[in-house]
Amino acid sequence: MMKFKITEVVVTFLSRLYCNTSLIMVVLCKANCGNKGVLKRPKTSDVLCKECFFKAFELEIHETITRNKLFKSGQRVAIAASGGKDSTVLAHVMKVLNERYSYNLKLILLSIDEGITGYRDDSLETVKQNRDDYQMELKILSYEELYGWTMDRIVEQIGRSNNCTFCGVFRRQALDRGAKMLEVDCVATGHNADDIAETVLMNILRGDIARLRRCTDICTSGGEDSIPRVKPLKYTYEKEIVMYAHFKKLVYFSTECIFAPNAYRGHARAFLKDLEKVRPSVIMDIIHSGEQMRFKDTIKKQIRGICQTCGFVSSCQPCKACILLEGLNRGLPKLGIGKKSKGDRMKAQQDLEKLHRVKNDF
Ligand code: SF4
Repeated sequence: MMKFKITEVVVTFLSRLYCNTSLIMVVLCKANCGNKGVLKRPKTSDVLCKECFFKAFELEIHETITRNKLFKSGQRVAIAASGGKDSTVLAHVMKVLNERYSYNLKLILLSIDEGITGYRDDSLETVKQNRDDYQMELKILSYEELYGWTMDRIVEQIGRSNNCTFCGVFRRQALDRGAKMLEVDCVATGHNADDIAETVLMNILRGDIARLRRCTDICTSGGEDSIPRVKPLKYTYEKEIVMYAHFKKLVYFSTECIFAPNAYRGHARAFLKDLEKVRPSVIMDIIHSGEQMRFKDTIKKQIRGICQTCGFVSSCQPCKACILLEGLNRGLPKLGIGKKSKGDRMKAQQDLEKLHRVKNDF
């Protein structure tokens, strides 16, 4: 098992961090605790000692939770746990805050095993370690038991171009199924500020207004019958999550999925990192822009209902998971793949109108 396998990116980041550390040895912690500052917060540029960084980091998440009323006392909360840095830090901080501020929540780890050999099997070992370290119940659900397919077999069928579509659709539903089995009141996911800024950018670049409208929501609910998802790390920078995990010596798994990258998100991520070099506040700025956007009433809102085939939340009939699964089972794996982009549809509409104009000219 590869615990703490630090990727090149993390190594580069940490080496820069230590460089900074040596340069700021004589600077006192900005929080006036009298200790030496040992790190510079990427989010605020404040120089802090380790303890004050931990306090500030945890307090900001606590404020996000309370300001947005993410939980109610007595609730059962599933933490979507992949073994990666985000969900590991989320589980750790939720445990700390639950005890410190008496949230009175029952925290449970919920993991989805997509069936990706050499990736998910290893990362699930880390989740089991988290279960033991944080003394939380753990439920693991696999694609194989839910759908009769593993991602390894799906990739054999579909190849490497649309694998993330299957994986994302099945995971979303698998989390709903797991949440229902565990009878939880909500599912907390580890989406951080960088993820949300990337998603805003991606939805703008794809012209996906329906998703753009809801991607900055801190709490998403599919309607009365569905279990809400909440994002306590919505305003937490990825770099600070890495720093927190590093200084707290948390065990997490940092190897990328062997079927990654999701190319389009990769471009948005690279673009965001470039922007961040010249404007460090860009992540919060993009989230703020996404939150403030207003949409025309003519833009169709997705109405969530229940899939009549599988009984889980869906905005279409049958749901996307059922369509994809039917395609796989019938040996037609492309069924349900390849919806045209909004730009393609606009262009097709313009071509159609042009054709009518030409016909009417005669
Ligand atoms: Fe699934 Fe794609 Fe993520 Fe791999 S990279 S876990 S295939 S969504």
